[in-house]
Amino acid sequence: MAEFTVALAGNPNVGKSTLFNGLTGLKQHTGNWAGKTVSTAEGSFDYNGSRYKIVDLPGCYSLMARSAEEEAARDFIRSGTADLTVVVCDATCIERSLNLALQIIAETDNVILCANLMDEAERKGISLDLPLISERLGVPVTGISARSKEGPLQLLPAMEKALKEGLHPPKPESTSPEYLSRLAEEICRGAVFSGPDSLRRDRQIDKVLTSRVLGFPIMLALLALVFFITITGANYPSKLLSDVLFKVQDKLIGFCRSASVPEFIYGPLLLGVYRVLAWVISVMLPPMAIFFPLFTLLEDLGYLPRVAFNLDRCFKGCHACGKQALTTCMGFGCNAVGVTGCRIIDSPRERLIAVITNSLVPCNGRFPALIAVISMFFAGGSGSLVSALLLTALIVFAVAMTLLASRLLSATLLRGVPSSFTLELPPYRPPQIGRVIIRSVLDRTIFVLGRAAAVAAPAGLIIWLMANVSIGSGTLLSLCAGFLDPLGRLLGLDGVILMAFLLGFPANEIVIPIMLMAYTAQGMLIDYQGLGELRAILVQNGWTAKTALCFLIFTLMHWPCSTTLMTIKKETGSLKWTLVSLLTPALMGGALCMLVNLLFYITSL
Ligand code: GDP
Repeated sequence: MAEFTVALAGNPNVGKSTLFNGLTGLKQHTGNWAGKTVSTAEGSFDYNGSRYKIVDLPGCYSLMARSAEEEAARDFIRSGTADLTVVVCDATCIERSLNLALQIIAETDNVILCANLMDEAERKGISLDLPLISERLGVPVTGISARSKEGPLQLLPAMEKALKEGLHPPKPESTSPEYLSRLAEEICRGAVFSGPDSLRRDRQIDKVLTSRVLGFPIMLALLALVFFITITGANYPSKLLSDVLFKVQDKLIGFCRSASVPEFIYGPLLLGVYRVLAWVISVMLPPMAIFFPLFTLLEDLGYLPRVAFNLDRCFKGCHACGKQALTTCMGFGCNAVGVTGCRIIDSPRERLIAVITNSLVPCNGRFPALIAVISMFFAGGSGSLVSALLLTALIVFAVAMTLLASRLLSATLLRGVPSSFTLELPPYRPPQIGRVIIRSVLDRTIFVLGRAAAVAAPAGLIIWLMANVSIGSGTLLSLCAGFLDPLGRLLGLDGVILMAFLLGFPANEIVIPIMLMAYTAQGMLIDYQGLGELRAILVQNGWTAKTALCFLIFTLMHWPCSTTLMTIKKETGSLKWTLVSLLTPALMGGALCMLVNLLFYITSL
């Protein structure tokens, strides 16, 4: 079977990943913003008896090698590995994409153009004379909508033909940027017809969403709304899940007892592993299954880049890169993803600042703990709206801390001035609700939950063993907690909480279950009865509003989880910066907790 290598090149956010997924059936993450494809992906498929290997290059605007993405794309194209390069263009602004296409034609012969987003162009009243563009450019041009089922398939005949016959397009006389933009303009003259104000609607919406006066209030209101929906929506399914899971557990225990299975066998398995798992699932799954789709929806709509645009000035003011606003947003999903996303920042200094400060915003694994403690101790039984508002305030605080840390770093370890860049505002696109839900549930929720479960199971076992192995006067668990207690108290917490954070290093999701397991003297976790019950246990163990506040602060700022730290090590390749990333949030959180503790102490005198 003949085998061909086909490279997909194109500007960021033109639908390359969508096309790649459509062709190969793989699931690359797509999202409506520039710069989320930061590494090359590969996949393959068969067509008419040939095998096509597709390489999705990072999105870039030119081959000048000004950034890591441009360099990677240029090197791949120059290497001659690809038998064919498909340049994916945005049909709604094809002239801009032609710059890159012309540069690629200058480097290699077998090139075809794919004008994607034809549906969007049509909606915006833009029509294209593709045959004319093809004739002027000297390469075949196919118009598609990669998001539709048939879209990607429409490209196949053109690919096959180009590979069979080989192409020799005329080379541009010069590759200077000025010459190429003039050429692109000439090629489009009389071949692109746009309605009177094809982008007017987007600009109007942007005027409101990114306005100086309304930008921030709208952003905060949306954030509060997302939290409100998450908190209200999660309550009921949480209870339902725990009812079911704990009923199953009781049945299993009953069965073991009646079958005379010794306790040292079913104890660790059911009261250790199973209980922690049931906890993690009933407390975490519902909020995640609601929050992730909402977040993905905003991402798909194109709202996140507007958030970044609003925050741009703040980050620049802290001598960091405005794009850090985007990587911070990604961190809300998962800090490891946020850290990888920092590749979109070109300056090494600014990239490091973004990497080091990313875990200051809470990832999805930490939200359930924040929500639970806020609802129990601060919302005063007044329901989800107050909780949502308080959570929003906490997030604003986390972003403020991110800015503070960035400013401190750029004044000390990473001195320098911010580089300038233009943040792109992609068009608003109606999201594909069905796919958003499927993708966020399958890709993100299941992934995060799987990871949490993988960690929770052994942690449940360890805690059970620690609670049941006695040394001298106490159990191993009480000894450890006792040892950590002085430091914990200094932070306004206690030994058990600190131990839970330490054991939660592999995944933050398990901090609360571990804590509860340690508090309940028998060394097993109680059934999840709802927040009222939970609060009672915590209060019995000495929790006050101060403990809750310090817990919230420490949840926001302690150390990155192991996955994030490993990602940081991989991305920076440096032990030193990994250590700085570990210490920065830990020291900040520690210092702040001590301060709060001190304030409470002084005011109580
Ligand atoms: P990449 O950055 O080039 O990989 O772009 P993505 O594949 O992530 O797509 C960017 C955005 O455009 C996503 O929100 C896609 O759902 C959307 N998109 C991609 N192709 C089409 C299309 O043909 N029509 C429409 N309306 N949207 C599309």
